[in-house]
Amino acid sequence: MSMRIGHGIDVHAFGPGDHVTLGGVRIAYEKGLLAHSDGDVVIHALCDALLGALALGDIGHHFPPSDPRWKDADSRQFLRHCAALVAERGFMLANADISVVCERPRLAPHVELMRQRLAQDIGCPVADVSVKATTSEKLGFTGRGEGIAAHAVVLLQARPVAAPVQARDDAELHAFVERVAAEVEANVARPEDADPDTVQWQAQDKHAP
Ligand code: MG
Repeated sequence: MSMRIGHGIDVHAFGPGDHVTLGGVRIAYEKGLLAHSDGDVVIHALCDALLGALALGDIGHHFPPSDPRWKDADSRQFLRHCAALVAERGFMLANADISVVCERPRLAPHVELMRQRLAQDIGCPVADVSVKATTSEKLGFTGRGEGIAAHAVVLLQARPVAAPVQARDDAELHAFVERVAAEVEANVARPEDADPDTVQWQAQDKHAP
């Protein structure tokens, strides 16, 4: 069984501007967010959660603020990069849950579009991405309207692809292929059969059919 959990948090302070970008959605507002990139705290927290699940450092390591390439960058490219790293390492998103904390602007009308954009960049069903907007009851820096915070948790599971096979004979190999095909067909992920790093087909496994 191969699953990985990751957590990310990001904060940006308000500054001059006329909009904020959250979850890839441009939202008109009387202020902007101070940042080297577009200041998308939702995507930054999500990226940190994905990278954290893979133990690959954080977003600042992959996209240093000192690098002029990321000046005013669209953070969606960061998310697509992190999603590619997840796939490259044989994983897929099981689900993501994100909480955004601010008093204003009001985010509820934008949450569905955020979910769609995030899912699009990750390459997963919208149902696997949750975005929740909350306030901190006027307490702390978010409560005083000084900035926006986002928290993200992700669960990754190994992609359901066939693992290297070491069957004793053709019948065993055939049974394995049939079983994997049936599982994919039924969309029943059995990650323990899929992670080439941790599990090989065990012909002698008494639990095997
Ligand atoms: Mg950030």
